Amino acid sequence: MMTENYRLEFTQEIQDKLTTAALEAQANAYSPYSNFPVGAAVMTQEGSIFTGCNVENASYGLTVCAERNAIAASVAAGHLNIFAIAVVTSAPFVARPCGACRQVICEFSSEDRPATIVSVASNGDAVVQTINDLLPDRFNLL
Ligand SMILES: [Zn+2]
Repeated sequence: MMTENYRLEFTQEIQDKLTTAALEAQANAYSPYSNFPVGAAVMTQEGSIFTGCNVENASYGLTVCAERNAIAASVAAGHLNIFAIAVVTSAPFVARPCGACRQVICEFSSEDRPATIVSVASNGDAVVQTINDLLPDRFNLL
């Protein structure tokens, strides 16, 4: 069921716009340890776009994924509802968000308005799913 705030409809134009923004962020990825640069672009329910890249650390466990950095930028700007997120990698296959990022996406995307996830390979191949596809039976505390 659509709610009154749910105005956006996912289109190829939005997919292209988010992919372009994610590619721009990927260019700034800090990934000297994995050599696996990732870029992400979040579109909020209001239509604003925020980007992030993966930021690694010599203490590997401190690494933060591109998706979570993009979401943090969105939250810092006061946007708490993800409409869609594109993730681009340099892999020749479609690499989807990791489990940690899936849970964080769920925090800002309700099950009845699931965020659209676009996972893009280096050759441009893209898979479009929802967060409900990627993390069914999500954990909820509230
Ligand atoms: Zn992740």
